[in-house]
Amino acid sequence: MKNKYAKKVMDQVRAKDPNQPEFLQAVEEVLSTLGPVLEANPQYEENAILERMVEPERTITFRVPWVDDKGVVRVNRGYRVQFNSAIGPYKGGLRFDPSVNLSVLKFLGFEQVFKNSLTTLPMGGGKGGSDFDPKNSPHTPGKRCSDGEVMRFCQSFMSELYRHIGPDTDVPAGDMNVGGREIGYLFGQYRKLTNEWTGVLTGKGISYGGSLMRPEATGYGAVYFAGNMLATRKQSFKGKICAVSGSGNVASFAAQKLITLGAKVVTLSDRSGSLYVKNGLTTKDVAEVIALKTVRRGELSEIAASVKGAKFYAGGNPWQIAARVDCAFPCSRQNELNGADAEYLLKHGCKLVAEGANMPSTPEAIASFVEAKILYAPGKASNAGGVATSGLEMSQNSERLSWSAKTVDDKLREIMAAIHDNAYEAAAKFGQRGNYVAGANIAGFLKVADAMVAQGV
Ligand code: NDP
Repeated sequence: MKNKYAKKVMDQVRAKDPNQPEFLQAVEEVLSTLGPVLEANPQYEENAILERMVEPERTITFRVPWVDDKGVVRVNRGYRVQFNSAIGPYKGGLRFDPSVNLSVLKFLGFEQVFKNSLTTLPMGGGKGGSDFDPKNSPHTPGKRCSDGEVMRFCQSFMSELYRHIGPDTDVPAGDMNVGGREIGYLFGQYRKLTNEWTGVLTGKGISYGGSLMRPEATGYGAVYFAGNMLATRKQSFKGKICAVSGSGNVASFAAQKLITLGAKVVTLSDRSGSLYVKNGLTTKDVAEVIALKTVRRGELSEIAASVKGAKFYAGGNPWQIAARVDCAFPCSRQNELNGADAEYLLKHGCKLVAEGANMPSTPEAIASFVEAKILYAPGKASNAGGVATSGLEMSQNSERLSWSAKTVDDKLREIMAAIHDNAYEAAAKFGQRGNYVAGANIAGFLKVADAMVAQGV
């Protein structure tokens, strides 16, 4: 990190939070690209903008007691990190996973601040969740929690969270393991406790204030963003071989959109392993995966035999399977694509990586992509379509109106194009044309930093 001010703040964060590796990784990734902006704008250092940006405005941790199906009392830890509200109410998802801790949520909340700024909508950044594991019942490990257990957990979680959120304060949404079912239980409990119907959560069901296209938005948005990148090299998705990781919300809709645009999607993955289909999955296969994951809540290994031409590779990631990959879409989890995976992809033809997940590429992988000058989109830019559509859900709730799927999809396309152009132009303005990492960080940072300067210390 060359800029002295950025380096000083990075050292302070390392000294203060030495046990938060994911948070340190996310902060370093942003600060290391801001040098030219900090040099051109001394007011940011004078106002201690970086020191303030790396400290959440508020961090809440709480006890979540609940009763399992056997009548045993269980206790999990709940969190909400309200990172920055300079440009709008805190906004960001809730994640339920045993890997959830303060470091993970601070990394996600920090990223969210820049991502939300990039969407062009008035949203601050936050993130929350719990170490609750809905995929592992505490009384029968390996078996999923029942709907009743998930409901009781969500009700207890919201019984504390409700006092810290609100439609103009903090508007959570889903993230890993928090989909339509969980948002429904959380919303029901919020309504009961407050006796109010407001758009306090996004990702709601269509019958009670949800937006059409919200489930599709993150995956579709990542593909729209990637399409804008390809257009800068006068290319399209037609005939491109694409590797996608994950098989949840983001991955499945990214795969679906890619196939409809003429690409060949050759992989999907989950905790059980990777599905590889040399001639490409069909939209029917993807629909089957969506049903598997959202209705039956099963594993990819269960359907591998019924997908035409599929091979199943147990464990691991899908990055080093296909003999040729033109485009990669990591849509599973943080740090799922490492330096060796990046080298493999580059050697096997990869010219575009668009992140659907948050921070899926390790710093070594990012360095390889940037050095190879391929089209590489960091998650905070390419996966912003989800939160942008959450912003559109908030607008519809405030208006007491529901927009058509086409209206929302058109707005999503416009927003992804605007994010792309802002990131591209910010990189060019600060001497790093084609570097979307620098461009996204700079464009996201400037709006929040200027709002913080304007609002005083
Ligand atoms: P889901 O829970 O729907 O899907 C996550 C996928 O990743 C599943 O296929 C899951 O497998 C797989 N996975 C998780 N952990 C592991 C692991 N340790 N090893 C192998 N596979 C794993 O989550 P989403 O699709 O919503 O989110 C995916 C990523 O996208 C996350 O990083 C999230 O923060 C990010 N994101 C999501 C947004 C959204 O709107 N949903 C918005 C912006 C970013 P399995 O099914 O076996 O659990």
